[in-house]
Amino acid sequence: MFLQFVLPHTRGSSHGQTRIIRKAYEHDFYTRMMEECYHQWAELENDAGVKLYKQTGLLVMGPEDNREYQLIKNTLQKNKVPTVILTRDNFHKHFPNIIMAEGDGALVDVTAGVLLADRALKTVQDQFQKLGGVIRDNEKVTGIKPGPVVKVTTSEGVYQARSIVITAGPWTNRLLTHTGFQLPLEVVKINVCYWKERTSGTYDVKHSFPCFVLTESVETKEHIYGLPSDEYPGLVKIDQTKSGSRCLHEDRKIEGRDVAQYG
Ligand SMILES: Cc1cc2nc3c(=O)[nH]c(=O)nc-3n(C[C@H](O)[C@H](O)[C@H](O)COP(=O)(O)OP(=O)(O)OC[C@H]3O[C@@H](n4cnc5c(N)ncnc54)[C@H](O)[C@@H]3O)c2cc1C
Repeated sequence: MFLQFVLPHTRGSSHGQTRIIRKAYEHDFYTRMMEECYHQWAELENDAGVKLYKQTGLLVMGPEDNREYQLIKNTLQKNKVPTVILTRDNFHKHFPNIIMAEGDGALVDVTAGVLLADRALKTVQDQFQKLGGVIRDNEKVTGIKPGPVVKVTTSEGVYQARSIVITAGPWTNRLLTHTGFQLPLEVVKINVCYWKERTSGTYDVKHSFPCFVLTESVETKEHIYGLPSDEYPGLVKIDQTKSGSRCLHEDRKIEGRDVAQYG
């Protein structure tokens, strides 16, 4: 396995303590693929004797008549994923600190949770080496020549293999240039903010606060993803693919009463 930077590094997409893992997707094939993913993470946890997954559930909210919200709801139901559909009446009982906007729908993908990302990466790398794999970090792939025997050129030398797997994240198309093949990929920047709880523990994973997704709406053109406070005590993690986490605070009125932006 070749890696252009020295491990561990923070320049790819995978670094950081946490990632949401879920079956709540708009497309069927993701939901079905996740079935297999959950099995494989569980198998890895078992083989390595480490805990990588915390089940928290995932609250999905969005305009009820929005296409994306409906697609997620349909995909979950079609694939018989344990899901709780919340009504306006019982929503407040479950989430007293969140204001459900007029016209919004809400559901919980019960199977979702948090994958401990840095720990997962380290565990995969350790298992790979344990099974005889060799990790060559600080060795950048600079050329790939396809054929019955694939020739791979790196900053350190030239290698041959019957087949190779390319998992270069946002660098994928740059690497694929060498093969004359391109994929319709778009690299997007994700803003990560931590919001401080005003009332300690309100959004804490220990108090069963789930991960959450706000689907696209009139005010928010991108999805907003959030994780309960756990990574850093008292701080809720929010990911957004565009600048302007204020959408969450002001426009969607999700957390207006109880959190303040921290960083
Ligand atoms: C802030 C943030 C939050 C996210 N949150 C979630 C979430 O909650 N849930 C979710 O499911 N997904 C989430 N994602 C997306 C998810 O993290 C990524 O899809 C996933 O980590 C991609 O992993 P990867 O291994 O494909 O890419 P990467 O982690 O980027 O790995 C690619 C590796 O290839 C190496 N490389 C590239 N070119 C070369 C070369 N020429 N030679 C050698 N090595 C090379 C890179 O250095 C890097 O180490 C998030 C992403 C970000 C950035």
